[in-house]
Amino acid sequence: MKTLKQAASGFNHIIQSCKSFKQLNQTHARMLKTGSKDKKLLSKLVSMYVVLDSMEDAQMVFDKISGSKNAFLWNEMIRGYATNGPYVEAIRLYYQMKRTGQLADTYTFNFVLKACSALEALEEGRKIHDEIVRVGCESDLYVGNGLVGLYCRCGAMEIARQVFDKMRKRDVVLWNTMIAGYATHGPFEQAVAFFYRMQEESGIKPDTFSFNFVFKACAELSDLEEGKRIHDCVVRSRLGLDIYVGNSLVAMYAKCGNMEVAREIFDSMPDRDVVSWNSIIGGYGNNEECSEALLLFNRMQMEGLKPTRVTMPSVLKALADLAAMQQAKAIHGYVIQRGFDSDVVVGTGLIDLYAKCGSVEIACQVFDKMSKRNVISWSAMIDGYGMHGHGDKALELFVRMEQAGLKPDYVTFVCVLSACSHGGLVDEGWHYFNYMIEYYCIPPREEHYACMVDLLGRAGHLDEAQNFIENIPFEPGVTVWGSLLAACGIHGNIELGEKVAKRVLELDPQNAGRYVLLSNIYAAAGRWDQVIKVRSLMKERMVKKNPGCSLIEINNKVHSFLVGDRSHLDFDKIDAMLENLAVHMKEAGYVPNTNFVLHDVEEEVKEDLLGRHSEKLAIAFGLIKTSPGTPIRITKNLRVCGDCHVATKFISMIVKREIIVRDAKRFHVFRDGNCSCGDYW
Ligand code: ZN
Ligand code: ZN
Repeated sequence: MKTLKQAASGFNHIIQSCKSFKQLNQTHARMLKTGSKDKKLLSKLVSMYVVLDSMEDAQMVFDKISGSKNAFLWNEMIRGYATNGPYVEAIRLYYQMKRTGQLADTYTFNFVLKACSALEALEEGRKIHDEIVRVGCESDLYVGNGLVGLYCRCGAMEIARQVFDKMRKRDVVLWNTMIAGYATHGPFEQAVAFFYRMQEESGIKPDTFSFNFVFKACAELSDLEEGKRIHDCVVRSRLGLDIYVGNSLVAMYAKCGNMEVAREIFDSMPDRDVVSWNSIIGGYGNNEECSEALLLFNRMQMEGLKPTRVTMPSVLKALADLAAMQQAKAIHGYVIQRGFDSDVVVGTGLIDLYAKCGSVEIACQVFDKMSKRNVISWSAMIDGYGMHGHGDKALELFVRMEQAGLKPDYVTFVCVLSACSHGGLVDEGWHYFNYMIEYYCIPPREEHYACMVDLLGRAGHLDEAQNFIENIPFEPGVTVWGSLLAACGIHGNIELGEKVAKRVLELDPQNAGRYVLLSNIYAAAGRWDQVIKVRSLMKERMVKKNPGCSLIEINNKVHSFLVGDRSHLDFDKIDAMLENLAVHMKEAGYVPNTNFVLHDVEEEVKEDLLGRHSEKLAIAFGLIKTSPGTPIRITKNLRVCGDCHVATKFISMIVKREIIVRDAKRFHVFRDGNCSCGDYW
């Protein structure tokens, strides 16, 4: 018969060679049968259970070990919980260990700090830190790493820095922790500073983690120059285009608005994962290159990658910018199929998408179905109502939001005030402006002032708007003055318009829209000499005019039309349709308002130019390509001019169609000769 000792050594061997949980469990069962209480053997068993991530079994064996347990055994258990969770158990065991009189060593501290870090338990961590200072091992590399890791994770960067400065030896992991901490919580400049300090003070070469986080910081700072310099370091370091570094480079260039280089890097990456695709799609989405974002979204799937939740907001935003309703519905289906609709960010993106595609009703359905809503979701829905001119519904929703116990933020109030402005609700606007300041103590920003000026100006209270601007406690920017200029345009106030335009053109000399506004004010009054002056000023300052452009989606494809555009394949049909419409419109009493043409040209030519405004081309194309009764949805980059507005009302009546136009400012729903904006835009 074998001796117990022999048996123990046999088991020791077997335990060590166990590859799976099942094998280990069988060995454990056989051991129980022999009745072995060998401490070493049981410790080994604990270690193996920890390695195989079976904390319940590890705990069971641990509890069975009688008598005092050494630090190694305690550490094994604490390490297990700190790695596999539940993390609170690691902290509980740490205190239990102390109660038995067993002293914690540097490993113990490192493990328990890791658990605190995972829980972001700053207070608990600070208590353990006190203990560490008492036993005098704060500057130990292992313990210090744990402390710095904890504080960086919790964003307590100052304390992290203090601990860091006390440490005598540093390694790359420690430096990376600091760089990552600063890159996540800021100040972001410090991440860049630490990146250089690491190399200069300690001679440590950056690894992929260092690069990854320092690029993240450059992206946050939108510091393209610094980003390029460090990009050069990557090239020189010959690390190769590691997928993480590649991804953070793509994200950095995209964030800084340099999509060309972002794309070059993306294309040159030997391996790409979902994060790479998300970065490039997000980049295109945020840099207003919607079509490219959507193309890549499709290509991503063709290459066999499944989009994630993170992919969706950029795609939804791109579709919203294009107002592509058919594709919106398709993507909504996809979102539901993948179960992303429960995500609050995706849901909010859908609300914004439908509202911008012209269907505030579907946006509302999505909103009602959301199981979780945050301030941003509520604000998006309020904004949706506002854009469509439903000021009353927007305000109702605001009240409901407060009743639901949510605290509006400054963005919510921008949405509320702009809804008041679109709905012409002057009293309500004043009420909410004061309410924001007095009840929520939110100091008004430029956007809020601009909304109020817009509201007062549109309603014709130009003097009040001017007074209001004079009382702004800071130097108001171009959005505020621009709103007043637009109001002068609506109400044909040349005198004030000239004064305001001077300010606006000083503040924003390269924006063609401002010159056009002033020029339109003069044109409306027949002051052609001044119109010419404005035009030559534009030439002198080399301001490029943004051509009017309208989009319409037909059969999942977005078609774009420029003013006077004759390039479209179906131009002849479009032209014939416009001619035909013109006849019916004249019969119904339509007179072209040529004041809205910038040039001092013959009346007949002016009429022709008006007839070729991009939205008219897009509407005609829509009428040709869709069956009777189908609503027509158009998106325009500029504001709809007065003539197109009148013309579209007539067209909606003649062809008996709903025509929904989203211009740079708001939505117009034309139906039976009327517009939802009530001619108020
Ligand atoms: Zn027009
Ligand atoms: Zn309208």
